[in-house]
Amino acid sequence: MTDNFKNLIELNDYFKEEKTCYEFLAQKIWLNGEPVCPHCGSVKVYTTKSRSNKPSKKDIPEYRCANKECAKKFTATVGTIFQASKIPLRTWYACIFLITTSKKGISSLQLAAQLGITQKTAWFINHRIREMFKETAPEMLKGIVEVDETFVGGKNKNRHANKKRNYEVDGDEKIPVLGFVERGGKLKTFVVPNTKAEILQPIMGEFVENGSLIISDSHRGYSGLDANYNHVSIKHNADDFKTVGQFHTNNIENFWSTFKRGIIGIYHQVSPKHLHRYTTEFTYRYNNRKEVSVIKFSDAVGQAGNATLPYQKLIGKDKPVS
Ligand SMILES: [Zn+2]
Repeated sequence: MTDNFKNLIELNDYFKEEKTCYEFLAQKIWLNGEPVCPHCGSVKVYTTKSRSNKPSKKDIPEYRCANKECAKKFTATVGTIFQASKIPLRTWYACIFLITTSKKGISSLQLAAQLGITQKTAWFINHRIREMFKETAPEMLKGIVEVDETFVGGKNKNRHANKKRNYEVDGDEKIPVLGFVERGGKLKTFVVPNTKAEILQPIMGEFVENGSLIISDSHRGYSGLDANYNHVSIKHNADDFKTVGQFHTNNIENFWSTFKRGIIGIYHQVSPKHLHRYTTEFTYRYNNRKEVSVIKFSDAVGQAGNATLPYQKLIGKDKPVS
């Protein structure tokens, strides 16, 4: 399998036919591309080809489960975010490529214009792709971990004229988001109901190894962390230098600023009920920022079935997630 598409044109050339898209998906979601029945998990499967002459179906690999009690037919899209979609995989792939490789994401309006789909379809695809970015087998962070919280939104009418935002968040006043990043490692973010210790600290307990060095600001939600961690809390005064040697939270703060610029510049408007999907999207991009485009794209496709594919359980990659 060649992964040699470095830009959208090469991607579109490579995935000219749906058949190629399906074969690529099979390679990404199944070990060595060997089909696994999404209904019962059987690895004994008959492979055929679609006999349809429709361009969207021509020669795509189809499978039938060899387990007699199941015997169901399926294609590689069953149990993935592409399941039952009328949009060709080729279009989905172009969306995934654009979302994973644009620095701040891409709006549904822009996607629609570039790919010749309606904005409604683009919006739906965008959200499904965000869903796919969710980690299903998260690893714990360790070493030096920076933690910080930020707030998205707040009603414009309550703001001073010079602080009015040029985007709106429906409903609630301000939505808190918790984030922590391992130095040289991964970032995790969580939309949280508030920033009290009883909310923040159990999340950290679940995702940061005991004994790690945690660096935070002096927010009260972090006090008491020294029971399980080495905890350094930095005072943020207006004129203070934030950096004292290694003791800073610059990485997480830089992420917040990219995130907010993206929300303001690209998406303009986010509703609280979808905010967690945007944080997931930006987190995914941050965690893969050093990869080349083709890896960003193909790793994302590899996650297309993470949420529902029994195969993940079969190979023991599945860890409990809260
Ligand atoms: Zn089956």
